[in-house]
Amino acid sequence: MTNVNIRNMLGLREVVNVSGTMTGLGASIAVPEVAEAMSGILPQFVEINDLQRKASAVIARLTGAEAGFVTASCSAGITLAVAGCMTQDNLAAIERLPDTTGLKNEIIVQMGHVVSYGAPVDQAIRITGAKPVLIGQATSAFEHHLEGAINERTAAAVYVVSHHVVNYGLLELTRFAEICHARNVPVIVDAASEYDLRGFLEAGADVVLYSGHKFLGGPTSGIVAGPKEMVRNTFLQNAGIGRGMKVGKESIYGAMAALEAWERRDHAAIRAREKSYLDLWREALGAYGGVSAVIEADPTHNPLDRLRVTIDPTVAHITAWDLVDALARGNPPVIARDHEVEHHYFYLDPCNLHPGQEEVVAKRLGEELDKARASNEIIATSLSDRNRRRFDTLRRWPD
Ligand SMILES: *Cc1c(COP(=O)(O)O)cnc(C)c1O
Repeated sequence: MTNVNIRNMLGLREVVNVSGTMTGLGASIAVPEVAEAMSGILPQFVEINDLQRKASAVIARLTGAEAGFVTASCSAGITLAVAGCMTQDNLAAIERLPDTTGLKNEIIVQMGHVVSYGAPVDQAIRITGAKPVLIGQATSAFEHHLEGAINERTAAAVYVVSHHVVNYGLLELTRFAEICHARNVPVIVDAASEYDLRGFLEAGADVVLYSGHKFLGGPTSGIVAGPKEMVRNTFLQNAGIGRGMKVGKESIYGAMAALEAWERRDHAAIRAREKSYLDLWREALGAYGGVSAVIEADPTHNPLDRLRVTIDPTVAHITAWDLVDALARGNPPVIARDHEVEHHYFYLDPCNLHPGQEEVVAKRLGEELDKARASNEIIATSLSDRNRRRFDTLRRWPD
């Protein structure tokens, strides 16, 4: 496999990804159709705006929207869509951003949606010059918060669909959109890692944004879909703040190929394969005291289950985070999904494995749990040191 050779050649670790689609690991396995499309178009000249017209047709067909285009990332999509709602098609205003003088410049977001997907949601809004107006509190937002925040300076509202956001006490999309639309405020939905390409528009989103490199298995890219005029105003930002977020022909065409491959994908077969991985791991972990493994549905209802592995350190002789770290240090490194590890559990995500890697994961889990069982002491390092180490390492880059 060429990808293995590339990693050897460069001296990169051959990571096994059971954490999901993570930017820090290279996002996802691009499907073969994508690799072929990208290498096919790279040597050729194209008129980019014509290529984007073709992308618009594919996006429209798959999402049910009127139009669409491909940008650098979903994060770029948030920025460009917000900018489009402020400038409309005023080319001079587009060049003036982030100076928003004379424009509507307030963007409403529920406080519980202001999360980090690797960078803060509100920063993607602020870099346009817009002012995020946070409504409600971290774990609650009511209709009166939204109604009270809309005024003549409101340019748009941003709604985030994600396992990262607070999952109770906030306004659901349909009602959020109704309230916004009653006052002519467009709704931008960040659905970066959601599988549903139609439901958010049907629920009232105006513009919806996806990542091309997450479940779609495309190149690093973002997909914008919505009504023609809003998509156009978003697209026009490429002559302004969108310039630094540009995509080339290869990513536009790669994202088109990803969407078309998604349409043809045998989703039921993939689900069955993933289920067999979860069963394998659950069975392997069943042999260990202090370890419980349950299959859990995706929190935002994507058709994807994960294995939640809870560790009782007093019985298993290791904490959940020390186990995750031992797996990551191993050969090959196995990277688990550890956002919530302080609660003594982590997840194994089956959606980004190459055939055979499920066995590697089962074997490595067994090896580390055997080691812990044989240890006289409980392997328990400080969680706050662990978090600090992560940022210390980052700050030393490229060393
Ligand atoms: C991943 C993610 C993003 C960022 O997507 P990119 O395409 O990587 O920029 C934005 N929002 C949410 C909710 C995400 O999960």
